[in-house]
Amino acid sequence: MVACPLCQKNTVGKVGTNQYYCWECFVEFSIQKDKTMIYELSDDGSLLPYGENQQLTMGN
Ligand SMILES: [Zn+2]
Repeated sequence: MVACPLCQKNTVGKVGTNQYYCWECFVEFSIQKDKTMIYELSDDGSLLPYGENQQLTMGN
């Protein structure tokens, strides 16, 4: 069972090979050998590394 790296819940759906989406956090993450990459969906549907654009999205 895969748990979300952010909320640790099982509210996770598989969207691709080693790729999952958490519908609690609205983030997508990919599980790799030694790390888990977290992405957030931008308004245009592209994936952004989680956290890097928070200053941009805050205050919208
Ligand atoms: Zn989550």
